[in-house]
Amino acid sequence: MSLTDRLLALIAQTGPITVAQYMTHALYDPQGGYYSCNARVGEDGDFLTAPESGQMFGELIGLWCAQEWMAMGSPPAFNLVELGPGNGMLITDAWRATRIVPGFHDAARIALVEVSPALREKQAQALDEAGAHATWIGHLDEAPDLPTLIIGNEYLDCLPIRQFVRIDGAWRERLVGARDGALAFGFAPGALADDSIIPPGLRDATDGAIAEVSPVTPAFVDSLADRFAQAPGRALLIDYGPIVTTGGDTLQAMRSHEHVDPLLEPGAVDLTAHVDFVELARLARAAGLEVGGPMPQGAWLEGLGVRERAAALTKSRPDKAGAIARQLERLTAADQMGVLFNVICLSSRDLPPPAGFPPFASPRTA
Ligand code: SAH
Repeated sequence: MSLTDRLLALIAQTGPITVAQYMTHALYDPQGGYYSCNARVGEDGDFLTAPESGQMFGELIGLWCAQEWMAMGSPPAFNLVELGPGNGMLITDAWRATRIVPGFHDAARIALVEVSPALREKQAQALDEAGAHATWIGHLDEAPDLPTLIIGNEYLDCLPIRQFVRIDGAWRERLVGARDGALAFGFAPGALADDSIIPPGLRDATDGAIAEVSPVTPAFVDSLADRFAQAPGRALLIDYGPIVTTGGDTLQAMRSHEHVDPLLEPGAVDLTAHVDFVELARLARAAGLEVGGPMPQGAWLEGLGVRERAAALTKSRPDKAGAIARQLERLTAADQMGVLFNVICLSSRDLPPPAGFPPFASPRTA
């Protein structure tokens, strides 16, 4: 039975499901979910990410990690965690770039959080070729109690969201039900009784606004706060999504680099939603973390020296000048990944501001 048929059967039995439940089935169903069974990342896959478009992104993040390791006092052992490593490009480029940093490789314990068995294999192969050793963990909590640097590129956008639409001055939840034998969007019959789930900046929005709420982000932030209360650490999270609250529908499905209907082929397409950086920062501060950013990816990479890195690469490989220029453009230009993608760093207290971010301007208490 296809995942669509199983979802239709479930809906027939229990009634319409939330968008978050739909995403959870479509992405993580053990027998047909996209990330459990079918994920294809990269040029030949369904979507292209920053590390897939060239080596500079992972290299600069590797050097950022080395700098932050030193900022933590160069501990002799620390967790280097990547959330959702895809084909393993970011971590391997980071590993190669940090070979020159004395003590860093010896201290790093690489732990990868990855749900897809097929991608785990690709990651293992890529790391093997780069001469690195890693372990795979099911959840961040499984990493040993050590100082920890966490990186995640296009990880948070996979996490399921609920959607609420403002209709006649009240919030109604958008649901996935069935119409004419196919999956279809609809609404919960009644208005939301308690608005506290809606992000504060949207609570009084006008009719037509859509609020997206990630039910798992609070637990994610708490797991960072718990970890960073035991030992110093930082999480660098890069994703697409605005740094102001906008209130629109950002659920999208991609297949072979094309936008497709998110309900048409659950399991066969990548489903994502924009990350709400405003809410993420608010939750992090409330959990006692320091927040760097969010700031645009382009500006952050420029601050870390992406232009100088591109110039050095071009000098050593003049034959690749065109490809390097295109990579730089893709990572930093406002009409490509430079502005739509943002970077945030959530840290334990008592560390200096993270590299590439302005000094902590945020209130230190929530
Ligand atoms: N970071 C990579 C891949 C991004 S795609 C890159 O930038 O190229 C999202 C990645 O997160 C995939 O590896 C996917 O399998 C993984 N993933 C998605 N949801 C996950 C979850 N809940 N737990 C662990 N990994 C997850």
